[in-house]
Amino acid sequence: MSKRDYYEVLGVERSADDREIKKAYKRLAMKYHPDRNREDPQAEEKFKEVKEAYEILTDEQKRAAYDRYGHAGVDPSMGAGAGGADFGDIFGDVFGDIFGGGRRQQRAARGADLRYNMELTLEEAVRGVSKEIKVPTLVGCDECHGSGAKAGSQPQTCPTCHGTGQVQMRQGFFAVSQACPHCRGKGKIIKDPCRKCHGEGRYQKTKTLNVKIPAGVDTGDRIRLAGEGEAGEFGAPAGDLYVQVHVKEHPIFVRDGNNLYCEVPISFTSAALGGEVEVPTLEGRVMLKIPAETQTGRMFRMRGKGVRSLRSGVEGDLICKAVVETPVNLSEEQKDLLRQLEDSLNGAETKLHKPKAQGFFDGVKRFFDDLTS
Ligand SMILES: [Zn+2]
Ligand SMILES: [Zn+2]
Repeated sequence: MSKRDYYEVLGVERSADDREIKKAYKRLAMKYHPDRNREDPQAEEKFKEVKEAYEILTDEQKRAAYDRYGHAGVDPSMGAGAGGADFGDIFGDVFGDIFGGGRRQQRAARGADLRYNMELTLEEAVRGVSKEIKVPTLVGCDECHGSGAKAGSQPQTCPTCHGTGQVQMRQGFFAVSQACPHCRGKGKIIKDPCRKCHGEGRYQKTKTLNVKIPAGVDTGDRIRLAGEGEAGEFGAPAGDLYVQVHVKEHPIFVRDGNNLYCEVPISFTSAALGGEVEVPTLEGRVMLKIPAETQTGRMFRMRGKGVRSLRSGVEGDLICKAVVETPVNLSEEQKDLLRQLEDSLNGAETKLHKPKAQGFFDGVKRFFDDLTS
């Protein structure tokens, strides 16, 4: 059975004021009161109907909801008037679910996450480091403990939205939720704001934090500091702080994952005869054996001298690339010695002394043969 319109039940105009509604109710309540209609079983039903219409239409908020949404907005079977369910709840249940909002009991928003860009030297990234950082953020107000209300007072539930922070607006067929204009979506009204935070429950402050960077981090890694982001609204949980790592370029080493690369200049003579060179590692200097007949570009792997992986604990390697150094600023005497050497190398056994040159000139020859054929 569909429900009758409340205004029709009471026999009043939709524009009727409280006084007219009350008058109509009195008259009908007398007429249908069960005590006066013992022989009419329908009277009790009528009496209930009148009473319900009266209760809804004399409650400003329920009447407004009824005017907008009809019985669905105030249907007693959904809880209105029955068992003291709060109007805001029913409203949220009925419309929130239908119009996609879900039930929206306003909760103060969690604080925003923050990002801090941290530049590290390669040494710091590899070894780990503790750094003090200054982060401009919002902190919870200690004066009002985040409530925003002056000490000794409490924020009031917003009477317009009943704490939901949302009001329903009818737009043609659809009902849409909007932030409550009275409390600006907060669901609460602060009559007497805290002086320290101006009723916001939090305030701007530059926080100093000590951040421990674990050994092995690399560019792109981020370290999460739970709860060190902005304070939430009105005591809601704080956001997190993410420290974004950027490792600066190093004058000697290039890092690729857990391996480090560097170029090691080798003297002409050491390259030819073999020898030892001092190479830098992140833990200090180490001697590297250079075998005889080393060419530029030859790689030497020094195991475990790279970066210890943050995730696996595995140690990377240091890979040294030999670069044979051409001697400069030669005296006449030194130049003569080199010429003598060159003459001797260009003897009958040239092929034996210049492995690269041999391959290269063979290639050049083939290249020109191809062009001319
Ligand atoms: Zn405060
Ligand atoms: Zn409100």
